[in-house]
Amino acid sequence: MLNKKLYRYFSQTETPFYYYDMELFNESLTKLKQAAERYHYSIHYAIKANANDRILETVKKYGFGADCVSGNEVKKAIEIGIEPEKIVFAGVGKSDAEITYAIGQNIFSFNCESMEEIEVINEWGEKMQKVVSVSLRLNPDIDAVTHKYLTTGLPENKFGIPLLLLDKVIQRVNSLPNIKLIGLHFHIGSQIRELAPYIELCQKVNSIQDIIFDKHGIELEHINLGGGLGINYENPDDELIPDYAGFFETIHKHLKLRKKQTVHFELGRSVVGQSGSLISRVLYIKKGLKKEFMILDAGMTDLIRPALYGAQHKIQNISRPEAQIKNYKYDVVGPVCESSDSFDDNVMLPMTKRGDLVAIRSTGAYGEIMVSQYTLRDKPKAIYSDELKNEKGEPLLVKKTTLQKDII
Ligand SMILES: *Cc1c(COP(=O)(O)O)cnc(C)c1O
Repeated sequence: MLNKKLYRYFSQTETPFYYYDMELFNESLTKLKQAAERYHYSIHYAIKANANDRILETVKKYGFGADCVSGNEVKKAIEIGIEPEKIVFAGVGKSDAEITYAIGQNIFSFNCESMEEIEVINEWGEKMQKVVSVSLRLNPDIDAVTHKYLTTGLPENKFGIPLLLLDKVIQRVNSLPNIKLIGLHFHIGSQIRELAPYIELCQKVNSIQDIIFDKHGIELEHINLGGGLGINYENPDDELIPDYAGFFETIHKHLKLRKKQTVHFELGRSVVGQSGSLISRVLYIKKGLKKEFMILDAGMTDLIRPALYGAQHKIQNISRPEAQIKNYKYDVVGPVCESSDSFDDNVMLPMTKRGDLVAIRSTGAYGEIMVSQYTLRDKPKAIYSDELKNEKGEPLLVKKTTLQKDII
């Protein structure tokens, strides 16, 4: 049974809202920290996955750094108190304002995606009288075997510097007085569920390092392998915390490091994805000619992943946990005036009625952060499991299993 206290709380709360299981989130961070420490790997949490203050403050408590892809993300990381020497900044189109801001903050590394960008950073470094630390984001030509909008390491993607240009780029970078080349950066995609693309990445990095050493006689201090580790969207309860230990073990086995090299990762989805659920109310069960539509009060403005990538999330009717039999088929849709405003088709669920509560699972990453106000819809609120109070203002001590295992 779903925890009664939690269910009562949900029933009395305006929907839709994001519910964050902070116990699970902390457990995920603990496991990540333990696994990374084993090999002295540095972790930079990818802020774009979820930039809520509570989430970032928790990440900071564990001592992780930040991976940023906009100037405002750099600003946010600094406001939260993440040390600039743990902040990396990627992106193919950094504006002059973003560049000068980040130079001024002395961040750890600009992860640069083109020679054109490095020239601009060098000019600003000269004007600001700073030597700027730069890593080269290389496009390693690896198929991450994920959704086509989630690959970033193929020649047809806009990201990174092509390997064929690497020689020229290194030569040029070495001649720039206000640039210090400190490392190599890679990020091959997102929601990668196999380890094979990472093994291929390690092998590429090994040979790139050999080439750089042979041709230029240099060994760079930092190797950043980016993020991308996937999560189980189909059956979240089978894998609430990703196998960080296995992931790092594979990297450790295949990556050949030079002396004194530090390895960095930028994980986003895998860290926070399973800790969030979007809770919504059923507005109508609409009988169509061929289908039954379950119309929710949450839509693509609250969670755009299904409309944007055809992503599938587990959908659960949490008002009917007693119903073991899921023998009704619904197209679960939102209220927005777009045909793409649909969460999933032909979902098997127990018989559902107006007013039932539905949980859309695994929405901690790339959920709330992508909320839009299209059609002037309200933004969903965020509710954290460790902040819940009952009517008398006493804390509701909700355990993680109450949302995960007990919802049928
Ligand atoms: C989005 C992004 C990440 C994080 O990816 P996840 O799949 O969420 O782990 C890491 N690095 C860069 C450069 C990114 O753009």
